[in-house]
Amino acid sequence: MDQERWKRWIAIPSWPCPACQAGTYRIVFKTIQVTESRAERISQSDPSENHDDMVDRFVAHMKCDAPVCGETGTISGNRNTFRFWVPEEDDYQTEVSYEALSVIPSPLPFKIPPKVPRPIELKVREAATLFWIDQKAAASRVREAVEAILTDFGIPERNDKGGPLWLDTRIKLFRELDHGKWVEQADLIEAAKWIGNLGTHDTVTRDEALDAFEMLETVIEDVFVRARHDVLARARERNDKHRKPKLAE
Ligand SMILES: [Zn+2]
Repeated sequence: MDQERWKRWIAIPSWPCPACQAGTYRIVFKTIQVTESRAERISQSDPSENHDDMVDRFVAHMKCDAPVCGETGTISGNRNTFRFWVPEEDDYQTEVSYEALSVIPSPLPFKIPPKVPRPIELKVREAATLFWIDQKAAASRVREAVEAILTDFGIPERNDKGGPLWLDTRIKLFRELDHGKWVEQADLIEAAKWIGNLGTHDTVTRDEALDAFEMLETVIEDVFVRARHDVLARARERNDKHRKPKLAE
């Protein structure tokens, strides 16, 4: 995933489109509306305050640039206007950047391959929507996505007595599956789980939430894209073997 696009302050809010996952979903600058915050209004009337670094509120439309898609959305949050002196040009320059606190529909932190089962996809989409305003909640959803991956692998959710199985136990079972084929993915899942646990009990930084997304992305890619390519390659090999004698007849 491109973590740069998910930084707190960005000059041009734009991400891969959440609908077609091919076009670029970007802010429509002509629709931006800005309003001053109360703190900024008070600061502006105080001559002793720094007026070269202002934060106000904004809302705007989003649009996907792929003509066949054209998905639309909304974005809102804070806008920072920073004015600074450039001695070489003997003039001021202004830098404007945006902090998204809501993007609906939300862009996805990574491309979701078509093979990903719907319950896992829904958790990733929920995590992405929550990320802007609540990184803790986003990390918890990543943990739920991880649980859904284990369920898809047939790892039981309950023990013999009908009680819930701890996620640690489920990860251990996943680690032992297929003679240890998924050991690396189990490590990634375990680390994403730790970040998700922080989401339940502690604070989660923006970078930690992005790390959890990246771990989830790698697991999804390995499990639902590469592994299925492996099995597809074996299936095709087998089909070829059976078809060839027939062609020779
Ligand atoms: Zn699109």
